[in-house]
Amino acid sequence: MTQRPYNFNAGPAMLPESVLAEAKEGLVDYRGSGRGVLEMGHREDDFLEIAHAAEADLRDLINIPDNYKVLFLHGGARGQFAAVPMNLATRNDTADYVVNGSWGKAAAAEGKKFLADAHIAAESTPYTYVPDESEWRHSARPAYVHITDNETIDGVAFDHIPETEAPLVADKSSDILSEPIEVSKYAVIYFGTQKNSGPAGMAGVIVREDMLGATRPDTPAILDWTAEAEQGSMVNTPPTATWYIAGLVFKWLKNQGGVEAMAEINKHEAEKLYRAIDESELYMNPVRRENRSHMNVPFTITVPGLDKIFLLEARTQGLINLKGHRSVGGMRASLYNAMPESGVDALVEFMKAFEEKPF
Ligand SMILES: *Cc1c(COP(=O)(O)O)cnc(C)c1O
Repeated sequence: MTQRPYNFNAGPAMLPESVLAEAKEGLVDYRGSGRGVLEMGHREDDFLEIAHAAEADLRDLINIPDNYKVLFLHGGARGQFAAVPMNLATRNDTADYVVNGSWGKAAAAEGKKFLADAHIAAESTPYTYVPDESEWRHSARPAYVHITDNETIDGVAFDHIPETEAPLVADKSSDILSEPIEVSKYAVIYFGTQKNSGPAGMAGVIVREDMLGATRPDTPAILDWTAEAEQGSMVNTPPTATWYIAGLVFKWLKNQGGVEAMAEINKHEAEKLYRAIDESELYMNPVRRENRSHMNVPFTITVPGLDKIFLLEARTQGLINLKGHRSVGGMRASLYNAMPESGVDALVEFMKAFEEKPF
């Protein structure tokens, strides 16, 4: 393979090279069977083994208790924006959303379509911090409280798990598997797979069993957690390739020492980059210290007109996809598990050299 660039994309994101190499083989000729994973029937023993191993490894990695179901579903995280109210609330219910970034805002807007109201219990302005729990204003009887643990676009993350009376639902698309989590504090955790778990096309849903059974009858079958739990996430043909490659990522993670080891590395890498930003005159990150994301680091260049040059020159150094989300501009470096420390070092070095240039 040619030298791979360091890919800072927020999602779909960089994957470990060894995972890609194994997938390349498995997609063509799975374990010498003469046919690849893409061509397998989803109810064949070989695929069922892949599917069950992926679930078992995910359970192992983040210690998912036995009273939680793990689902692998179509439609990414946004599909779950709709599935959450459909499975946890009636059309006459209100649910509460805490908004500290663009994805939480979008989750509330989508949820509102299927609820009496998606009540905004708190919203930070601007999205540079998580509103303090003492300022959350809940509705009278929320069906659930929805949070976005790590805001991928704004780089704003919770630094602890909030205590809520109503069932706590968390979108963990961009920080799942980046650190240990106390699953039992949540009623539901969901995540799109293309950030830190594998390729696009799938959502993982971790749901406590007592949350099941109340799905609305008019819920589309593929968003029905109860039916999906009963049928092993195979109400219809699942995204088999994504499931397979996510499973390879889970195995790779275990070999790296699991999420405990990853958390150390992620923290160390993120701190290096934030330090470089804070110590410079040219770069700026506005997020409150304790809410700074270890996964997505947005920053701006304080001298106007330099963004384009920065991105072009970064690319020539093998540092790609550093452009910020189209809604906020600036830069963003995503440092998911597959980003090696050498990538962060190369970025920091480039940023320092760029700052020293005369413009
Ligand atoms: C990327 C992302 C989403 C949307 O994911 P899709 O799989 O594209 O639907 C939702 N929430 C968060 C926190 C994300 O990072």
